[in-house]
Amino acid sequence: MKKLEQMYEGKAKKVFRTDDPERFIVEYKDDATAFNGQKKGTILGKGGINNRMTNMLMQMLEKQGVPTHFVEELSERETVVKKVTIVPLEVIVRNISAGSFAQRYGVEEGIVFDEPTIEFSYKNDDLGDPLMNQYHALALKLATKEEIETIKTMALKVNAALKEFFLTVGIKLVDFKLEFGRTSDGTVILADEISPDTCRLWDQETNEKLDKDRFRRDLGNVEDAYQEVMRRLMGE
Ligand code: UDP
Repeated sequence: MKKLEQMYEGKAKKVFRTDDPERFIVEYKDDATAFNGQKKGTILGKGGINNRMTNMLMQMLEKQGVPTHFVEELSERETVVKKVTIVPLEVIVRNISAGSFAQRYGVEEGIVFDEPTIEFSYKNDDLGDPLMNQYHALALKLATKEEIETIKTMALKVNAALKEFFLTVGIKLVDFKLEFGRTSDGTVILADEISPDTCRLWDQETNEKLDKDRFRRDLGNVEDAYQEVMRRLMGE
């Protein structure tokens, strides 16, 4: 497959066109941003870790019946994915209170929920990705009723699978963000990434943060944390 011109450059990834109209190539960068792009930095080795971790988890999810955009890992940082149009919703699943949830509702981090929660944000940088409910998403025609139901069902399935998987390597899955896309025939599939950039991951014993909060909150040892998650998941 030929890598053709760059279509798009995001905060953490570049997307390239290929000679196959149904395939894109994504390239993961070491660039890190937080607080809607206000904090910028580099996390050395992050691109490779996020690429390989996303691919491993997406293959695991496919086996459990969740359709994803993953096609083939090309190199340390590059992956062939199915071409989709992204549904402009950030789908956030939470098992334990943290981050904006804890702030918004004035509770401490670390409260374990009886049931996972799902929330949506409108993917719109100019507006700062505002929180949105499913009726707002419908009103703005960001997705259909059926698509929203599919997305919620898939998000909960992904949560159950990931939560169990991370626990086997001593990690609590606190919360995470998913993005979904539509293929050319309109099928909704899981897209984007699943990595320490998009998940909160706490050590099961010590609650040490092994994710992007180390960067957001200047906790230090950011590279080590990403490396540690990789080591536990892939034995390296
Ligand atoms: N998240 C993300 N991208 C975003 C916003 C959130 O990947 O633009 C992830 C974040 O890493 C965390 C989860 O979604 O695992 C919930 O984030 P939260 O709403 O608490 O927002 P934050 O505290 O990160 O601003």
